[in-house]
Amino acid sequence: MPAASLTERLSILADAAKYDASCASSGTEKRNSKDRKGLGSTEGMGICHSYAPDGRCISLLKILLTNHCIFDCHYCVNRKSSNVARAKFTVQEVVDLTLGFYRRNYIEGLFLSSGIVRSPSATMEQMVDVARRLRRDHGFRGYIHLKTIPEADPELVAEAGLWADRISINVELPTSEGLDRLAPDKQAGQIENTIGMIGDRITENKDAQKHFRHAPKFAPAGQSTQMIVGADGASDATIVQRASGLYNKHRLRRVYYSAFSPIPDASAVLPLSRPPLIREHRLYQSDWLIRFYGFQPTEVQGAMDDGGMLPLDIDPKLAWALRFRERFPVDINRASKDMLLRVPGLGTKAVDKIVQSRRLQRLRLEDLARLTRSIDKLRPFIIAEGWRPTGLIDRADLRSRLAPPVKQLELFG
Ligand code: SF4
Repeated sequence: MPAASLTERLSILADAAKYDASCASSGTEKRNSKDRKGLGSTEGMGICHSYAPDGRCISLLKILLTNHCIFDCHYCVNRKSSNVARAKFTVQEVVDLTLGFYRRNYIEGLFLSSGIVRSPSATMEQMVDVARRLRRDHGFRGYIHLKTIPEADPELVAEAGLWADRISINVELPTSEGLDRLAPDKQAGQIENTIGMIGDRITENKDAQKHFRHAPKFAPAGQSTQMIVGADGASDATIVQRASGLYNKHRLRRVYYSAFSPIPDASAVLPLSRPPLIREHRLYQSDWLIRFYGFQPTEVQGAMDDGGMLPLDIDPKLAWALRFRERFPVDINRASKDMLLRVPGLGTKAVDKIVQSRRLQRLRLEDLARLTRSIDKLRPFIIAEGWRPTGLIDRADLRSRLAPPVKQLELFG
């Protein structure tokens, strides 16, 4: 059989990479090449973080070095036993592709992952070499995200952080039992140790930066991870607990949730259908509640049903407020910022504006209407100047009044 062309391999290895959702390019340091040294930039126009409908981050060249793999993770299309077309790039081909696409303004950076060939360390060495050559030999200053392999030599993982903006290791599944069952070659303890090691290096590096201006940066955009949702039986409560443990213990920048999608030629141990996409969305919303709204994981769990699942028809903040109605209505002219952040329909920016404006005047409903798109959602939960929602919060039908209308599915959509 003739060797596949570069274009054919690009098609295979870009398609194989689309299942990984953890490729947002947010949060890195500003770097550009206006001084005419090197090329590329992580700032300015053209940097976008949009995702194609299939989960691909469209601003980065998102590829695998190879989709050959010696591991056999059941949920993965590239697993050893999968019957898919295989391909491989050389290190230099990835470097050339990245530079070529960058020069044509197609991309702002590179997201590189890989199946495991020969050994985890041999694979990691090649991935590090791509980043090393881009930065050192070509002065590439665009964004680089390297997916690291936890079983690889820790020195290689550490070197990855010196060249890449962000490094990530997928925890894959929320529980070690799930990982044992669906990814028998991987070890939850090893993944956690490597995440911990990277977290420590990032912290040490931040300290070093304070004392030594020229200390080399280590993964300035931090580390992230991804969890697959719906491939095992883990509840939303378990997922939220696991994610918040990772944020607290290892100071991860992001946990990405990826709804399991049935893959061609799927293993029999997997569910036959994917979980509703809205479940992934609700998990992201609960993640935001914890990271930006001051919710404790136990509070988010308070919004769940007895089986530990978030409601799908309403967002978790509204679910929490309906469950704990005794905490409402909240007086927007007097309540603490913490409590304002718990009012459904009020975002963090709106809360900041309320706190600022109420120093100057007592706020009315009309004032809030200018700060939020959902004044109807807000009404039962607040007291404002001239507004008190008598009895509204106790209505038995409050949930159905506030839930977004169910959309009729199109028969031929
Ligand atoms: S290690 Fe597992 S998840 Fe990664 S490419 Fe191989 S089979 Fe897929």
